[in-house]
Amino acid sequence: MSFKYFEDLWNLWYTELHNGTAGLTLKIKKVLYSGESRFQRIEVFDTYEYGKMLVLYGSIMFTERDEFVYHEMIAHVPLFVHPSPEKVLVIGGGDGGTVREVLRHPEVKNLTMVEIDQQVVEVSKKFFPTMSSGFSDPRLNLLFKDGAEFVKNDREKYDILIVDSADPVGPADVLFREEFFRNTKERLKDGGIFVAQTESPFYHPDIVKNTYSILKGLYKNVFMYWAWIPAYPSGIWSFCFCSDTLHPLENFREDKYKTLKLKTKYYNKGVHFGAFSLPNFAEELIK
Ligand code: SAM
Repeated sequence: MSFKYFEDLWNLWYTELHNGTAGLTLKIKKVLYSGESRFQRIEVFDTYEYGKMLVLYGSIMFTERDEFVYHEMIAHVPLFVHPSPEKVLVIGGGDGGTVREVLRHPEVKNLTMVEIDQQVVEVSKKFFPTMSSGFSDPRLNLLFKDGAEFVKNDREKYDILIVDSADPVGPADVLFREEFFRNTKERLKDGGIFVAQTESPFYHPDIVKNTYSILKGLYKNVFMYWAWIPAYPSGIWSFCFCSDTLHPLENFREDKYKTLKLKTKYYNKGVHFGAFSLPNFAEELIK
């Protein structure tokens, strides 16, 4: 019997359900890792369509094929607005993609990353070397702690604070609560920028509505921007941009953008500006 015959018989699919009644299903080439940390199930699958992907508690965190969209947008939008982003804090981000993109900015002198689950970092280093390249950068201070506890007890202040969390379930649930958002604001220097992934306005309207009403009580300027991420529920994904002094478009740093000439696969000036133009249904949620 030829191997090809067996390969055709190998009929394994990974399905992520969204709200239990619709979802995304991907044919699996190989199960590369399956384990359990103190916090969550961790899986790595090799898929035909999207390359390798990291799955935590049954939810797709990223795939090799489209991770650049999310990580470029969560990092470069604030970093092309803040006038001198020397100190950056990332909460979550265990796969290393956000850290990789932040560290492409020479202005960043010190990046602290607070990830609750060390096993996610180890798995990412092993199976996703292109994602975890930033972990060896001397500017990185990597801590394995609960991000909510960290921002409550830390005394440092940062120019940019990025929350690259999972969905508001399990250990990440605290990262969507008012107390956490209040404490993150305390960690920002004057003129600082707060950015977080804020789920899908299509699939998670209640989470989006609640999150933005909290943020609007904390910051003078609160914006949503969005990106197209095919492996995420509905493909439309949102981020918040919050600051008391800066505007994501009026303060865009044309000079830095032109001189840095960052090589990116999704982010560019037009995408930066376009991302803040929202469809009406998303505008309604954050009114
Ligand atoms: N890009 C992905 C997304 O949008 O779904 C998420 C990126 S990353 C994989 C999310 C990380 O948040 C995970 O590594 C998870 O362990 C971490 N995390 C969850 N709760 C946390 C907490 N309370 N403090 C710090 N990190 C946390």
